[in-house]
Amino acid sequence: MSRSIEFVEVGPRDGLQNEAVIVGTADKVALIRRAIAAGARRIEVASFVNPKKVPQMADAEAVVEQLGRVDGLTRIGLVLNERGAERALSTGLDQLGAVAVASDEFGARNQGQTSAESVAVAARIIAMAQAAGITAQVTIATAFGCPFTGPVDPARVVAMARELAAAGPVEIALADTIGVAVPAEVSALVGAVRQAVAPLPVRVHFHNTRGTGIANVWAAVEAGAGVVDGSIGGLGGCPFAPGAAGNVASEDVAWMLERSGVATGLDLARLVDTARWLGEVMGKEMPSMLAKVGAP
Ligand code: ZN
Repeated sequence: MSRSIEFVEVGPRDGLQNEAVIVGTADKVALIRRAIAAGARRIEVASFVNPKKVPQMADAEAVVEQLGRVDGLTRIGLVLNERGAERALSTGLDQLGAVAVASDEFGARNQGQTSAESVAVAARIIAMAQAAGITAQVTIATAFGCPFTGPVDPARVVAMARELAAAGPVEIALADTIGVAVPAEVSALVGAVRQAVAPLPVRVHFHNTRGTGIANVWAAVEAGAGVVDGSIGGLGGCPFAPGAAGNVASEDVAWMLERSGVATGLDLARLVDTARWLGEVMGKEMPSMLAKVGAP
């Protein structure tokens, strides 16, 4: 294959984060190990956030400790502020994930920061990672829409991306936090952000809340996104749409891209096997399409 993307598994973090059923540390580590066996080389292993707000992530330190260092794997810890960054750095993770928000209202409710404040905090988190001798990436949340105030101005997202790129992250990620994006918007925004931050790669994160997730992945890759997120089994509901489908499923992404001539480095059969295992752990059917029909 002449084309390839870098895949990021977000199931252990974003997939689990919105689930009411608390998953044990051993099962979280097992999920991460299965993702590695299925070819993932970058994995969001946990978020270091307030355990009162996100009880599912209360064992973040224990997950990293039990997992340990893995050759060839970049273990990403998501953080929203300096306190979280300190916690994540103390575990010896490989990369910090900072989150800037395009919407003031979402920023206020999610992390107690305006959009501008979140950009400044993300820049400080990137500097903290670098001072500790590791890398950081940054995600622009609600890049395609806010659950409270609706549409987000693409020009605001591009300006944020430019400012964040100057802080020295390894990539700029665009997250459709609430799953409202459609392919035409994705093409336009990925293209514009890519131009603004080149040569930094653009990463994309989609939720299948309204059925457009997989189409958005394709639009993003066609527009030049070099890094794509997925969650095994399609776990990861939208916190603002009860009952919604989850993140785009890693195995659905792998199927679609590999069959289209874009290499992902993923092993479809192992992903499907893990999606079914995860369904048993969570006690529910996974939203993933491939988990239902099986790998070929
Ligand atoms: Zn998400």
